[in-house]
Amino acid sequence: MIADWLDLTLEGHASARGMGRIPSGRYEIVAPGVLEICPDDSGPHARPVVISAGIHGNETAPIELMGELIAGLESGHLIAGAPLLLILGNLPAIRTGERFHATNLNRLFRRTETATAISVDAGNAAAGKANDCPADDEPARARQLMAAVDDFYARFPPADGTRRLHYDMHTAIRDSHYPRFAVVPFSEGEAISPSQWSILSAAGLQAVLHQHQHSWTFSHYSRHYHDADAFTLELGQVHPFGENDMVALAPMSQLLAALAMGIEAPSAAPERMAYFKVEIELMRRSTDFRLCFNDDVANFTTFTPGTVVAEDGEAGPCTVGDTPLSVVFPNARVEIGARAALLLAACEPPQVALASDHTSSE
Ligand SMILES: [Zn+2]
Repeated sequence: MIADWLDLTLEGHASARGMGRIPSGRYEIVAPGVLEICPDDSGPHARPVVISAGIHGNETAPIELMGELIAGLESGHLIAGAPLLLILGNLPAIRTGERFHATNLNRLFRRTETATAISVDAGNAAAGKANDCPADDEPARARQLMAAVDDFYARFPPADGTRRLHYDMHTAIRDSHYPRFAVVPFSEGEAISPSQWSILSAAGLQAVLHQHQHSWTFSHYSRHYHDADAFTLELGQVHPFGENDMVALAPMSQLLAALAMGIEAPSAAPERMAYFKVEIELMRRSTDFRLCFNDDVANFTTFTPGTVVAEDGEAGPCTVGDTPLSVVFPNARVEIGARAALLLAACEPPQVALASDHTSSE
């Protein structure tokens, strides 16, 4: 019963291994909190999909979305039609309702110089095969999850003309002018498939933020090492289990269902979303540093030209130039040399090819 898998995993009682059947395919627990679903028959738009939640343990709405998906597949309400890897990220932190234990898991998805792709068994061995990783060992969990993704993507290559996919689902700590937004990891490789913009728009995403440099997040891992269409999706604000606004997330739930079934995902005009690129990465340079706005300012708050947004004893004031800038992820209390905020400029929607790519997989 895979519906139990989620509850048992959250309670810390799930077995680390196991397999069985759902009405339309097979499932296998490949590592603690990592469930693979393989369909009996592929849907017409099947792509190998990684869906992850709980990389930050206190972000519960994505776990509820995953629960809905699993319940649908188990009951036969959803017909499996694409290879699916479902991941619950930081298990000890999820159980205690904390963002993380020792360190932020979502900065650790980087291969070491000696390791290229690692087998899932090696990753499990590194993490302690039969058990969860120790609560304070986020680096071991990152290695285990990287191995699981490597193994999954190696066994399920995408069909010609399509790409692998990874949605890493989160919720944000602070309020936001755009409660649901996608962060696109930086890549020197292929551009994101154009159809993704209409798909994310239909799923209720309201804004898109293009990263300007590598950051070793889980979605970046899939994009950088596997050329996947990969995103960090911020899906509203952090709330405890049962207090999430799942109505606002119904379109996202529909998207996940379409991916699991390998059918065409709903689409909407990409122009419905606002697009931003990083203009300034605001760094803290000295002890004498402050942000010149309230601590609880919402993400995407916009500052007009001439506004002083930060003052630093070494770097001096940071003033908005001719273009209005919007702030995300501000934090004045970072270490010296670390990022205190991103300042964004609005940009044009990506060019959506006239011959849309979501018919090319047929
Ligand atoms: Zn998060």
